[in-house]
Amino acid sequence: NQQAYKLLNAFVTPPSLGAVLQQHKQDLQAADERRNQGLEKSPIDGQLIAIKDNICTTEQPTTCASAILGGFHSPFPATVVEKLKSAGALIAGKTNLDEFGMGRGRSHSTKSIHGAVKNIYKQEGDDLSAGGSSGGSAIAVATGQCDAALGTDTGGSVRLPAAYTGAVGFKPSYGMVSRWGVVAYANSLDTVGVLARNSSDARNVFDVIKGYDPHDPTSILESTRVRITEHILKRKSELGWGSAPTLRIGVPREYNTEELQPIVRRTWQNILRQLQGMGHSIHILSLPATKMALSAYYVLAPAEASSNLAKYDGVRYGNRSSGREGSANVLYARTRGAGLGEEVKRRVLLGSYSLSAAAIDNYFIQAQKVRRLVQEDFNNAFALQHPLLKSKSKPSRGADVDIILTPTAQSLPPKLSSLSRSDPVQEYSADVLTVPASLAGLPSLSLPVPISSPAGSGADSPKSVGMQILAQFGDDDLVFDVARMVE
Ligand code: GLN
Repeated sequence: NQQAYKLLNAFVTPPSLGAVLQQHKQDLQAADERRNQGLEKSPIDGQLIAIKDNICTTEQPTTCASAILGGFHSPFPATVVEKLKSAGALIAGKTNLDEFGMGRGRSHSTKSIHGAVKNIYKQEGDDLSAGGSSGGSAIAVATGQCDAALGTDTGGSVRLPAAYTGAVGFKPSYGMVSRWGVVAYANSLDTVGVLARNSSDARNVFDVIKGYDPHDPTSILESTRVRITEHILKRKSELGWGSAPTLRIGVPREYNTEELQPIVRRTWQNILRQLQGMGHSIHILSLPATKMALSAYYVLAPAEASSNLAKYDGVRYGNRSSGREGSANVLYARTRGAGLGEEVKRRVLLGSYSLSAAAIDNYFIQAQKVRRLVQEDFNNAFALQHPLLKSKSKPSRGADVDIILTPTAQSLPPKLSSLSRSDPVQEYSADVLTVPASLAGLPSLSLPVPISSPAGSGADSPKSVGMQILAQFGDDDLVFDVARMVE
C-alpha cells in the first residue's frame, strides 16, 4: 500500500493502509467486540472511510488541494464526518482532488498541489485518468485502502471518477446531506456523495450521513423529509408497487450524443435489454433543455465560485504571500496570484465577468432561466410529481417514467498524456451527461456495468462502463433499489 500511495497518490494524508490500521488499532478492536456481542453502532461500525480533502476534519489538515489552504486546520469537523464517527466509522485519511473541486471540464483530479491522481487501469501501458474531482476517493476505494469514501459532487465529481474506476458513485438529492464543514464551490449545486465498491455499501454510508442539520440553511427540514417520504409512498401504493415493481425506464434522446464511444453505447443498450428481460419497460423521451444545461452550468458554477473564493485573500482566509509593500489590493492580488491555481483563476474570472453589471442579464440571468427549463424537463418526464413543488395539472407527455438511465461519461477514461493537449472549451463539454441532474438537484447513481475488454487491450485495461440511474427529487432510495436489481 505504500507503493499504491506512491503510484496513485489517492491520499493527501496519511501515507499507507498499515499506518491507518496501526493508528486505529484500538478502535478497530472495540468495533470487533461490539460486533461479536451484536452491539454494532451501525452497519458501518468499524469501517474505514476516506474523506475528500475539501471536507473538514480536525485531526488532519483540509487543503482543498490548493496552495492557498496549504496546512489549514479546521477548528471544527464537517457534520458528515461527525455522523460517520458517531456511527463507529474510522477516518482512513484525506483524499486528493482537483483544486476546490474544479477540474477542467471533465475533471481528472490532476489539478492538485499534491500531484495528479492516476487510475488503477492503464491503456497500452499509459496512465489513465481517474476522473475528478473526487478521483482520490475513487482510487482509495478501488485499491482497497478504505471500505468507502466521501466525495463531493457539484456537476459530476463523484459520478465521473466512479465511472472511470469501476466504483459505485452516489450523488444524493440536493439538501439531503449536510454541507456544513464542506468547503463551498457552488452552494446551490454542491452535494456530498459516496463512493464504494457496491451499492449496498454506498447506501449504508448514505443512511448514516443524511439528515437535517440546523447548521446548513439548505438542509431539508425533518418535517419536509417526512412529507417527501409520504408523497413517494402514496404514489408507489397507487401504482401497486410491491417488493418487485415493474419500472418505466426513460432513455433521453439527447444523451445519445455523437461523442458517445461505441463501447459506451453498446453497454447502455445491453443494460436496457437486461432490464427489459426482467419485465421493465423502456421509453424513449426527450429532455430538450439538455443541450443548454452545460452552458448554464458553466455560467452558474463559476459565478458562485467567484463569490465563495473571494474570502481567500490572505487577510480573512488563506496563506498570505510575503512582502509588505503596496496597498491592501496589492496584497490581495499577490496572495491570490500565488495561492490559486490556473483553473481556479479561470473560474473566478469567468464568474466575476458573468456577474458584472455589463454581463449579468445576458449570462447569469439567462443561465438561471435555463436551469428552470432543465428542472421542468425532468418534472415532465417523471411520473412522480416533484414533492416540493406545487402540483400543476400538467398535460402528460406520455413518458411518465420512474427512472432515467443514461451513461455517466461519454467515453472510457482518457490517457493522462492526452489531457494537456485538449482545449478548455472542449473539456468542459464532456460534463454534459452529469450536469443536468446537478442543476435539477436530483439523486443520481453511477453503476459500473462490466464489459468484456476490447480486443488487443491489456489485462489492466478498464473493466466496466459507468451507467447513471436518475430519479425524481427525494426518491434517493429508488436509485439504490434499481442499482441492486442489476448489480
Ligand atoms: N467538472 C465540473 C467542474 O469542474 C464538476 C466538478 C464537481 O462536480 N465538483 O465544475
